[in-house]
Amino acid sequence: MAGATILLVEDNAVNRRLAEFLLRSQGYRVREATTAQEAFDLLSSERPDLILMDVQLPTMDGLEATKKLKENPATRDIPVIAVTSYAMKGDRERALAAGCVDYLTKPLDKTRFLQLVSSYVGRKIRGS
Ligand code: MN
Repeated sequence: MAGATILLVEDNAVNRRLAEFLLRSQGYRVREATTAQEAFDLLSSERPDLILMDVQLPTMDGLEATKKLKENPATRDIPVIAVTSYAMKGDRERALAAGCVDYLTKPLDKTRFLQLVSSYVGRKIRGS
């Protein structure tokens, strides 16, 4: 999708920079939040095409945040992909149960990451 906007919810600056770099390399616009509350605040005035949600966030974790987004008519149609550093048995099921459309583990596999994002928002190649 031309000009697709991705909301990146990630509290770790290094992970955030990497994901942002990969997304921008494909021409996506990137918005950032470091906590669930920051994401909610941003979503009160903006409507991204996709949300990448770190599961391990301070105060309110990413799955709880996703449940809240899914309860809100204004945000429930925005696809959310969960991202976690600690892949454990049952994580995928918990992410889907919370309302996420898919699930990724860190460290991000660049190809898989961009393929998955593209499958939800379409491809936007820089310069095309
Ligand atoms: Mn985190």
